[in-house]
Amino acid sequence: MGRYIGGHLLVWDGAREQMTSESKWYDLQGLFLRRFGIAAATYGLVLALTWLGMGLGLYRSSMTVLVVSSLLVILSQFAFFLLFRFDLNLRFDDPSLTETQVLVATAWHTFFIFQMAEGRGTLLVFYVVILLFGIFQLRPLRFVGCAAFAFLCFAGVTGLEVYLAGGALSSSMVLQLCVLFLVFGWLSLIANYVQQLRERMRQRRFALQAHQDTLRGMMRQLENLASTDELTSLYNRRHFLRLADRELSNLSAGRQHGMALIDLDHFKRINDQHGHAVGDRVLQQFASMARANLRDRDVLARYGGEEFVLLLPNSDAEQVLLCCERLRDGFSRIELADADVSGLSLSIGMTLLQPGDELDDALQRADQALYRAKRGGRNRCEANWTRVDATS
Ligand code: GH3
Ligand code: MG
Ligand code: MG
Repeated sequence: MGRYIGGHLLVWDGAREQMTSESKWYDLQGLFLRRFGIAAATYGLVLALTWLGMGLGLYRSSMTVLVVSSLLVILSQFAFFLLFRFDLNLRFDDPSLTETQVLVATAWHTFFIFQMAEGRGTLLVFYVVILLFGIFQLRPLRFVGCAAFAFLCFAGVTGLEVYLAGGALSSSMVLQLCVLFLVFGWLSLIANYVQQLRERMRQRRFALQAHQDTLRGMMRQLENLASTDELTSLYNRRHFLRLADRELSNLSAGRQHGMALIDLDHFKRINDQHGHAVGDRVLQQFASMARANLRDRDVLARYGGEEFVLLLPNSDAEQVLLCCERLRDGFSRIELADADVSGLSLSIGMTLLQPGDELDDALQRADQALYRAKRGGRNRCEANWTRVDATS
């Protein structure tokens, strides 16, 4: 649909398809980068920083614990990646999994920073990085839940250390807790804002989609209007010529189409005797009778006034004649409930379309045959099968 008037919309359809396939690839790439790549790189950085800190003598920590916990963090991320990649029931950006991923990463990070007393303050920032993974996907309340979990984790680690050391909260610990609380508060606000933006964009996308559907529907209506005759619902002359032209150019060697011009006899008389409205109904009755007698691939159109044109694809002279006689017979049997229009008849001029033929020539041949049918007394089918150059 939309071939003639809305070429640009077809282009839009194509662009959308292209965008979909591109975004699928982007999803996969994004999946790898976001879910596994960035997470692993983040923890790699934590590891590198920690080792650097240890090398400079800033922290004291068991190397084994450090390596094992870092590896566990990376492996857990990899497990998530596999889950996303191979479990068919999960969508790439399933928010429930994002939440789980953030919670697990937070727990591992807590375990990780528990290993290093002095370096804790520096590594606090990675809580923020972990939470950023969920900022685009988690609903605001869920995000606040994750932030609260991270805060409690860190507060728990601090509290445990104070308890184990049997001392009191140091001022740097209080500062760390306050900073973390503030940053999480801000992140929650941003998450809320991001979600609102996403929702608004989603609504705009739906509205745009609805507009596009309406536009498509209107285009289809327009196309119907431009190609259909209002009274009979048959194709109009313009559309017929376009279809016939296409059929003719697709006609392969050794094949032929039948064509016929049909003119209702003494139609003026029907109008004069019974009125224009009855004339209209006779035209409509002819159209529905003809449609019932034709194959799906045959093309019937109102050529103008009380004239019709018929294209019978892949038909020989005998089949065309048979079909036209059927229409002539069918028309003579038409009856109207409120008007006596008995004795209806029509005349038909027939021809054959062959490869290399011109549509105008073929129509002219059919017209000449129709003229002969009229001259011969009407209510008959006459033929002018062959081209002049084919006979000479
Ligand atoms: P012939 O057998 O020679 O074809 O005679 P005819 O009366 O059918 O032909 P003519 O061309 O003299 O008249 C055609 C008539 O068809 C005249 C016109 O008023 C009528 N007509 C054309 N379109 C319509 C239409 O949409 N509705 C009605 N009711 N009549 C129409
Ligand atoms: Mg006429
Ligand atoms: Mg007529």
